This record gives sequence, C-alpha cells and structure tokens, in this order.
Amino acid sequence: MFAQLNLHERLLRALEENAFVEPTPVQQEAIPVILAGRDLRATAQTGSGKTAAFLLPVLHQLLTMQEGGATPATRVLILVPTRELARQILEETERFARFTFLQSAMVIGGEGFKEQSALLRKVPDVLVATPGRLLEHIQAGSMPAGEVRWLILDEADRMLDMGFAEDMQAIISACGNRQQTLLFSATTGGRALREITQAVLRDPQHLML
Ligand code: AMP
Repeated sequence: MFAQLNLHERLLRALEENAFVEPTPVQQEAIPVILAGRDLRATAQTGSGKTAAFLLPVLHQLLTMQEGGATPATRVLILVPTRELARQILEETERFARFTFLQSAMVIGGEGFKEQSALLRKVPDVLVATPGRLLEHIQAGSMPAGEVRWLILDEADRMLDMGFAEDMQAIISACGNRQQTLLFSATTGGRALREITQAVLRDPQHLML
C-alpha cells in the first residue's frame, strides 16, 4: 500500500484520487531508496510505473524542503529523450502535484524559445526537458542549472542511442550542486551507459526490474 511508504499527505491524496493503491514492484523498491537520499541506477521498462517511482519520492523531498522555508528555484530537472515522453511526465507530475503549490513546466525542441524563456522566468519547481533545447536555455542563461538539487535521467540508454551523450554531459556538469541523481534505463545498456553511470552517480543503489 502507498500509505505505508511515508509519502507526504498531499501526495497520498493525489494518489487516492487517481486510484493508485498498490505500488508496482519498481515503486516498492525505488521509493524507500530515493526517500533515503541515495543515488539510484534502475533498469525498468515503460509500463512498470517507473515515472511515479522517481516522481513521488522526489516531490516528497521537495515539499519537505519548501516547508522548511527554502527559496523557490527550479530544484528538480527530469531529462528525457523525446518530446512525447516529456509530455507524459509533465502530465503525471501535474497529477501528483495537484494538492500542492508546486509548479511544473516543460522545455522541448520544436516549440518557441522565447515562450519557454518566459516560462522559466516564472521559476517552475520541476522542469521536464529534452537535452538539446535545455542546453540552449542553460547557455542562454534562462535556466540556472546551479539551483538543481534533483537530477533524473530517464530512458538514459535511449538518450545515448539518439546521440545526446555530449549534451547530457554538459547538462550534468552544469547541475553541479545537485544532491541526488537518479538514472533510469530500459536496458542494461552498453559502455557509454556504464561510463556515464560511473561518472555521475555517487555510490548508487542498483535495481533491476
Ligand atoms: P510508466 O511505466 O511510468 O510509464 O507508467 C505506466 C502507467 O501506469 C501510467 O499510466 C501510470 O499512471 C500508471 N501507474 C503507475 N503506477 C501505478 C500504480 N501503482 N497504480 C496504478 N496505476 C499506475
């Protein structure tokens, strides 16, 4: 039961409203590890519930941090390979954040840069992004990556396969003040994924589901 996972009461309300009762195996395993503050390297397929597995414990920590009086900033960055996945994750974030004051936004290629800069100036708490466009915003100064505390690389194997390795590296380096990094992939991946895992994660817990 989700109620036993020590999640914030506002998140539990949203789960209840969406008829999420039982966590899936990846959620059962990943949520306590992430709540404990550890870095995580998880292999999980689409459809396994991996999105909620990282969103819920990260939103929980963000809510706790804000209740402690932290200044607003874009603290959570979710990097994904495709626009479609970005849209799905934004939707799920909004669903879970429904009973909170947390704001989320998305920056993806193929949409207006200026409009996105205006969105970023409103300082969304959670940003979902594809690598190329996000890097442009970081370089233009419209996304202060130094404020990011939680960095999530979703479908990291696919991002690498799509040729985003250099952009990913640049984004990860720009997020130099992060406190937790989570890396999800559908496959165990090849050398590039192993290298990025080693370079980016700090003593990660490994999960294979
Ligand atoms: P994902 O693997 O994150 O793409 O999730 C697949 C689908 O399952 C999404 O539509 C989720 O909203 C839904 N889902 C994830 N976890 C649960 C759960 N514990 N109970 C019910 N539905 C879920």
